[in-house]
Amino acid sequence: MNEAERHAAQAEIFWRLHEGLTKQGPGSDATTRRALELAAPIAAGPVVLDLGCGPGRQTLVLANDLGGHVTAMDLLPPFLEQLEARAEAAGLSERIATKVASMGDISPADHPDGSVDLIWSEGAIYNIGFDAGLAHWRRLLAPGGRVGVSEVAWLRDDLPERVRSFWEAHYPAIRSSEANEHAIRTSGYRLLGKLVVPEDEWWTDYYCVIEERLDSLRAERDDPMWQEMIALVDEELEIVRIGLGSFGYVFYVMEREG
Ligand code: SAH
Repeated sequence: MNEAERHAAQAEIFWRLHEGLTKQGPGSDATTRRALELAAPIAAGPVVLDLGCGPGRQTLVLANDLGGHVTAMDLLPPFLEQLEARAEAAGLSERIATKVASMGDISPADHPDGSVDLIWSEGAIYNIGFDAGLAHWRRLLAPGGRVGVSEVAWLRDDLPERVRSFWEAHYPAIRSSEANEHAIRTSGYRLLGKLVVPEDEWWTDYYCVIEERLDSLRAERDDPMWQEMIALVDEELEIVRIGLGSFGYVFYVMEREG
């Protein structure tokens, strides 16, 4: 087996586990709305960016509830196509624009300094790093502009060893919620509120579906490389099963300071 084959198998498994899901991470409309309440008051008819929007579950809530305009960015066009179809079905197309773009490279020509009232990013800032994201986005915010972002964090000190080593291997930047709050302050923001995404929202419409799909992928090919890739996802599911509560997604809602 060579590296290219391994990579192709991994990409195929990833895509077949994730394609078509209504969301691409833990969360729910109810949790998005609870986090939005922490951001109140938000400017009327706000200009909103939804970064790493995926198939846009939360984009629809933002466009529907806030009545402004949302630009939803992601790197993967199929997710944006899914979002466009959902926006159309919900009658929200005029309030949502999609854009294939990196959240780490937002163009000043399209999005000048101080032009945004609310930046939203659920389960996605880890792609560029929590501190790097907050630093890159700050210039975009109008005075009093808000950010709502969810990020995985340690919720307890007494971590099962297996859980700690899994995260250290896959996301070494994970840290305590207090450390994230400290980073928020030193990045030029004031924390308005936070909440922990409920544990069942990791499973509903997400890991439950992935687990079901994994069983059919497992049965599909018996070559060792395929099975090795399946085992990596098994491990991820096992860590969520045994470790959730010692880690979790925390929603941080903040205001630009200064
Ligand atoms: N917010 C969505 C998706 C979360 S999954 C939800 O909660 O359902 C993370 C998303 O970030 C994926 O859709 C992935 O394609 C996207 N992504 C990864 N790197 C990115 C980048 N640099 N810029 C924008 N989006 C990115």
